[in-house]
Amino acid sequence: MTETAAPQPAPAGASAWLTVDAGAIADNVAELVRRAAPAQVMAVVKADAYGHGLATGARAALAGGANWLGVAQLSEALALRAAGVQAPLLTWIYPPQADLAAAVEADVDVTVGSAWNLEAVVAVARALGRPARVQAKVDTGLGRGGVLTDWPEFTVALARAVAEGAVEVTGTWSHFAWADAPTHPTVRAQEQRFVEAVAELEAAGVDPGLRHLANSAATLTNPGAHFDMVRPGLAVYGLSPVPDLGSPAHFGLREAMRVTARLTQVKRARAGQGVSYGHEYTTPRDTVLGLVPLGYSDGIPRHAGNRGPVQVGGRRLTVAGRVCMDQVMLDLGPDFDGAPGDEVVVLGRGADGEPTAQDWADAAGTINYEIVTRMSPRLPRVVVGGDR
Ligand SMILES: *Cc1c(COP(=O)(O)O)cnc(C)c1O
Repeated sequence: MTETAAPQPAPAGASAWLTVDAGAIADNVAELVRRAAPAQVMAVVKADAYGHGLATGARAALAGGANWLGVAQLSEALALRAAGVQAPLLTWIYPPQADLAAAVEADVDVTVGSAWNLEAVVAVARALGRPARVQAKVDTGLGRGGVLTDWPEFTVALARAVAEGAVEVTGTWSHFAWADAPTHPTVRAQEQRFVEAVAELEAAGVDPGLRHLANSAATLTNPGAHFDMVRPGLAVYGLSPVPDLGSPAHFGLREAMRVTARLTQVKRARAGQGVSYGHEYTTPRDTVLGLVPLGYSDGIPRHAGNRGPVQVGGRRLTVAGRVCMDQVMLDLGPDFDGAPGDEVVVLGRGADGEPTAQDWADAAGTINYEIVTRMSPRLPRVVVGGDR
């Protein structure tokens, strides 16, 4: 067992809480900066910084050396500005009803990945009498956001908007479909299409600005895809985007999230006692049951009944029976000598022997991304390790 980064304070009286190690986020970003150099790093802090807290994640990433921040929703970008975060900031999701004037006035770089995106941003820039900072998004094969078949027409329209002074192009980017399988043929094909699309933009007379394509998986496994900037999200929080290729520690990263609960009940049960809804677990012998006050409404996947791992007093146990809305049960074994109030680590740092988000993902048949991003706001957040 290695040492944990910081003492783990608990909010007084809480049943369960989520600890965010800001020092781990900063160190992870510093590692990504080192791997990406000379390319810049845009730390992706969408979805409440993958459940770690939007402003906490953003500040820690900047402390670690991130050059840019990236968010999905425009509302997240505006929330960061409202929190006083001044770093360059890119957004890529907004509807036609969005307040793009607020984005331009807040110096948020707006992704233009369709004709209507560009028209809307140009209209706002004209109305404000100042250029909007935009980044062009080409769909190189993911089949999701970005300009797909209309790239030639789009480059002409973008050139016109630049010439008019309505927009400044700060970057050109795309996103992989199979970055987590670095040898998949689509990876090379998307890289080639990206290079070609950038050349087409230049041929139309537009400086593409920063070219970026790599998410966490490509940042860690595919240096050929780094271009001028990388755009990692998951790795910032110390999770592996390619668990089959390497653990967080293998990539020089450490998990920033720990979820802890306190046992609220400890009681004896006889052999043959059905446990939790549907009695999907039955005690095989006389034993001690423990109640953990965390359930699916807190973000514990219901699919992980009878499979999800926890740690009690240094011992690894598995959830007994179904996950309920607010609680899960444990079979603590006949010799358990703990008591209500004892801490249960639900997920944390693999290198310290704790159950991980990856373990929960395996138990629930999902990916580690979903485990950390679905942790409920009901869980109080405690930030540690800010001054690394
Ligand atoms: C979420 C996201 C990222 C980060 O992806 P990770 O796999 O978490 O590194 C990068 N770019 C875009 C467009 C995204 O939506």
